[in-house]
Amino acid sequence: MMKIICVGRNYSDHIRELKNEKPDKPVIFCKPESVLLHSPAEFILPLIDSEIHYECELVLRIGKDGKHIPENIGNDWIDGIGLGIDFTARDLQEKLKNKGLPWERAKSFDGSAILGEIKPYNYRPYQFSMKLNDQVVQNGNTEHMLFSFSEIIADVSSWMSLSKGDLIFTGTPAGVGPVAKGDVLRGYLDNQENFICLIK
Ligand code: ZN
Repeated sequence: MMKIICVGRNYSDHIRELKNEKPDKPVIFCKPESVLLHSPAEFILPLIDSEIHYECELVLRIGKDGKHIPENIGNDWIDGIGLGIDFTARDLQEKLKNKGLPWERAKSFDGSAILGEIKPYNYRPYQFSMKLNDQVVQNGNTEHMLFSFSEIIADVSSWMSLSKGDLIFTGTPAGVGPVAKGDVLRGYLDNQENFICLIK
């Protein structure tokens, strides 16, 4: 059984744009496998009274089971890397955050996780970007993450076992924004197109 693990607040420019506090440990939440769509994806906007925001993120695929994985060898658990979108019902998330309630209603609706092409992982920095209707709206680089891949893997596996096939969405840089019917989102990993997502 695979799971989708997501990291929140992992880039300081995005923390600033949402006026959040810098975390001292990774902020973790999960999505069920049933919400996942593979590229080329058609995402049907959910019937939720809220703006739906894109968050383009690097996605890791876990290659073997693990628990209490040491940070210095954490990256050995990664067997693939790609790009994805963590769709978020932003107004609703704000309301839930302010009331101290769980985020699932704002994060785990059908189609809320988009996955592009997974490539072999090769232990180097990665850069990525996303276009909304041919305009670049997000740019990210692994060197700007607060928590590295190995830190995320060590932290999560210290309290929740990782399984072969799990996906980890590693957080979004600044530039998040709303989508509307008819929009087209394209993600680029090292300047190569990695996913396409149409908003329906
Ligand atoms: Zn996210």
